[in-house]
Amino acid sequence: MYLIDTRTNVIHDMTRPAYECHISHIPKDVIKKVYTIDTVKRMCDMDAVPRYTGCQWCMPDYFIFDMSKIY
Ligand SMILES: [Zn+2]
Repeated sequence: MYLIDTRTNVIHDMTRPAYECHISHIPKDVIKKVYTIDTVKRMCDMDAVPRYTGCQWCMPDYFIFDMSKIY
């Protein structure tokens, strides 16, 4: 199962959450659950709106480095 923090649009993998995810700190009312990796892939698609990204700690394969946040 995958857990989405809808404030940040970051997806976490609940089967291997990392300490850095601080899952327990995410308020329950902003959490959205997704059950399949196919759905996760679709949500991370470049053209998806809103666009989601994998957590850099527990889903590094789906983590999208957002260049626009640097400049
Ligand atoms: Zn995570």
